[in-house]
Amino acid sequence: MTTKKRIAIIGAGVAGMAFAILAARQGHFVHVFERRPQVGSELGAGVTLWPNASFVLKQMGLLDDIVKVSGKPKSMVRFDQYSSEQPNEPFREKSRLVIHEINRQAQYETYSILRRDLMEILFDALQKTQARIHFSHPIQAEELAQLKAEYDLVIGADGRMHSAARQNITAALSTELSVDNEAIYQGFINVIGITQSPLTLIDKGVIQDYWGDGERFGIVPINDKTCYWAAGWTSSLKRKSDQPFTQEDLIQRFQHWPKPVTDVLQHAQGASINTIYVHDVNPITSWHNDNVLLIGDAAHAALPTSGQGACQALEDAWTLAQLLLKHDAIDVVLQLFLAKRIDKTTAIQRTGRHIAQTIFHTKPSERAVDGSISQTPSHTIANFWMSGLTSS
Ligand SMILES: Cc1cc2nc3c(=O)[nH]c(=O)nc-3n(C[C@H](O)[C@H](O)[C@H](O)COP(=O)(O)OP(=O)(O)OC[C@H]3O[C@@H](n4cnc5c(N)ncnc54)[C@H](O)[C@@H]3O)c2cc1C
Repeated sequence: MTTKKRIAIIGAGVAGMAFAILAARQGHFVHVFERRPQVGSELGAGVTLWPNASFVLKQMGLLDDIVKVSGKPKSMVRFDQYSSEQPNEPFREKSRLVIHEINRQAQYETYSILRRDLMEILFDALQKTQARIHFSHPIQAEELAQLKAEYDLVIGADGRMHSAARQNITAALSTELSVDNEAIYQGFINVIGITQSPLTLIDKGVIQDYWGDGERFGIVPINDKTCYWAAGWTSSLKRKSDQPFTQEDLIQRFQHWPKPVTDVLQHAQGASINTIYVHDVNPITSWHNDNVLLIGDAAHAALPTSGQGACQALEDAWTLAQLLLKHDAIDVVLQLFLAKRIDKTTAIQRTGRHIAQTIFHTKPSERAVDGSISQTPSHTIANFWMSGLTSS
C-alpha cells in the first residue's frame, strides 16, 4: 500500500490530463495548472490513435467514448509524385500500410479522432475525479520552485515549445548542451484543418498520404463526411505569426494535386485552418531532477511524421500511474519511469526525424524504396508499439 501524494501537474494537454485522471482515481491529491483559459490544443486538427493508445484508453475506461466519435482506418496508402511535368496524373501509389493487420497483431484497434473530441473526453473524465484544474495559470520558473517545495511530485506536461519544467531539468544536467532546452525547428511547416462535407473520393477506411517534392498532403477520414488533413512543405523562412496561411493560399499551392486533395481544400472549414512551424526536441538522457518529472512532449516531443506523439503521451501517463501504485519512494518511481520509457520514445523521435528528412529534404527520385514505415512487417510494428504495455 503506497501513501497518497500531493501532485502538481503543469499543462492540461493529453499527457497532463491523462495522468491527472489516473492519479486522482488512485486517491492522490492532484492540482493541474493550465496556461490557457480552457482545454484545447494548437497541435493538429486530429490525431490517429494507434493500438498502443487504444490499450491505454481501454485501461482508463475511456475507449468506448473514443469509439463513438472516431473513424477506424483500415489502411494508409502513400502516393508518390513521379513526375511534375504531367499535371493530370502526377501521383502513383507507392506503398500501403495494412492497418487492420497491425491491429490484429496488436489486439487493439486504430482510431482517428478530432483533437477537440479527444480533449473533451479526457476533460469529462477529469471532471469526474477530485482533481482540481486551474485555468489561465501559466507556471514559470519562479513558481516552479514553489511547487517543488509544496508538492511531493511536480509533473512537467507543458508541451514542446517553451516548457518551463524542461528548462529546469536540463539546467540541472551539467552534461547536456544548452540547445537541449529549446524546441528545434525542423525546416517545414504544417497547415492543418478539418473538412465536413460528403466527399465521394474519400474512402472512410483509407488514410491518403501524398508525397511530392518537398511537399506533403495527408487526409485522415473520420466518417462519411468528416476528415482532418495536414498540408506540409519545406520552409526556412518564418512568416510572422499574424500571417498564417489561408484556404486560398492552400488551394493555389495544391491546385495541380490529385482531386481528393483539391476537394478537401475547397470544402475546408476556414476557421479550422491553422499554421504550425514544426518543432521537436532533442532526446535527452534524463527527465527528472529532485521531485520534478517531464512527461509527454516536454520530455520527448517527436515530429508529427512519427504519428506517435499523443500515443506516447498516453503511455507515459499510464506507465507513471502504474509505478505510483507499486512504489512509495518518489525517486524510485522517477528512475523506473525513465528506464521503462526512454528507449521507446527516443526511437520514435528518431523515426519522426528520419521520415521528415525523407519527405521534405530528399528528392522523390532519390528516395529509397520506401522512407515510410510501410515496408516494415506489421508484426514488427505491432510488437514495437505494444512494447512495455501489459495490464497487471
Ligand atoms: C500537426 C500535428 C499532427 C499530429 N498528429 C498526431 C497523431 O496523429 N498521432 C499522435 O499520436 N500524435 C500526433 N501529434 C503529436 C501530439 O499532438 C503531441 O505529441 C501531444 O499533443 C503531446 O501531448 P502533451 O500533453 O505532451 O503536450 P500538449 O498537447 O502540447 O499539451 C501541453 C499543455 O501544456 C500547456 N502549457 C504549456 N506551457 C505551460 C505553462 N508554462 N504553464 C501551464 N500550462 C502550460 C499548454 O497550453 C497545453 O495545454 C501531432 C502533432 C502535430 C504538430
